[in-house]
Amino acid sequence: MKTKKVMLTGVRPSGNLTLGNYLGAIKNFVDRQEENNSYIFIADLHAITSYIEPSKLKESVYNCVAMYLSCGVKPEKTKIFKQSDVLQHGTLGFIMTFQTKMGELSRMTQFKYKSQNCGKSGVDTGLFVYPTLMVADILLYNTNIVPVGKDQQQHVELTRDLAQRFNNRYSKVFVEPQTYVSPVANKVLNLQNPLEKMNKSDSGDNKGTIFLLDDLEVVKKKIMSAKTDSLNKVCFDEINQPGISNLIGILSKITGETYKEIENRFSGRGYGEFKKEVAEEVVKLLANIQQRYKTFNNKEYLDKILFSGAKKARVVASKTLKRVTKAIGLN
Ligand code: AMP
Repeated sequence: MKTKKVMLTGVRPSGNLTLGNYLGAIKNFVDRQEENNSYIFIADLHAITSYIEPSKLKESVYNCVAMYLSCGVKPEKTKIFKQSDVLQHGTLGFIMTFQTKMGELSRMTQFKYKSQNCGKSGVDTGLFVYPTLMVADILLYNTNIVPVGKDQQQHVELTRDLAQRFNNRYSKVFVEPQTYVSPVANKVLNLQNPLEKMNKSDSGDNKGTIFLLDDLEVVKKKIMSAKTDSLNKVCFDEINQPGISNLIGILSKITGETYKEIENRFSGRGYGEFKKEVAEEVVKLLANIQQRYKTFNNKEYLDKILFSGAKKARVVASKTLKRVTKAIGLN
């Protein structure tokens, strides 16, 4: 019998999940969870790279598990766990930091981008070293496939480099993972500023961000007032029409239509009609997720899922960590 590949992904519980999280990472995971040996985790250690109020963090963890389930993650097929419940993440993260050059971490575009906004308080070390924790998250499970959005692709490439470095320096302990970045909607953009990624932590009135739990009327309004251009043709052109291209990507990812099919269908029709259809499709998707969310929003049930997922994850993670410590000479 063919052995299944290991697939793993995770989301930071640092606020409500967005349409970007769903289309860029979770949907790609859900669509492949049955054909693979699948792990999905709540990246709570990553959530503390910058200060987050403790009670908010706890709530966000539950919210994140309930969201995974509502988005179609099946606990009977996928191991769902909280990162901090598997202590091996921290230990391997520490070890992998020591395999990494300062230059490698300084070159990470996420670090360069996020550190710009730190202001007078200075840049948190967490922001600098969190990619090496991500390296550990992936390597602990002998992961083959990592579905992530485009913003995280560089971190998975770093994981491959560090796995290779470790294997060459010590002995062949790690599997080198492949990134899975979907060709469509791998970077969902802010609807009000289509030059920026749609983020959980967008400041301001959040008009440009669609949260999966947003009121559906609000979602419609956000899409209908999305920034576009004056060219008035529904055409995928990321340079000259970033706003329209973003909406085409969203629609294509939800309905499965190609860009060309969408362009042909809306040829000669106005942006109003196009946005209306995008809004209808997004609302249909979110209505479904929100309906399911109500049934999963039960902490006792969610705790059981996390307990069972962490128990299974620990078995694999502790075996990998033992191989690592033996290879290094720490055993
Ligand atoms: P984060 O919200 O940073 O914890 O990201 C969790 C996952 O969602 C990662 O795989 C990201 O690459 C993905 N993701 C986050 N925001 C977006 C976005 N706007 N478009 C596509 N993927 C995204």
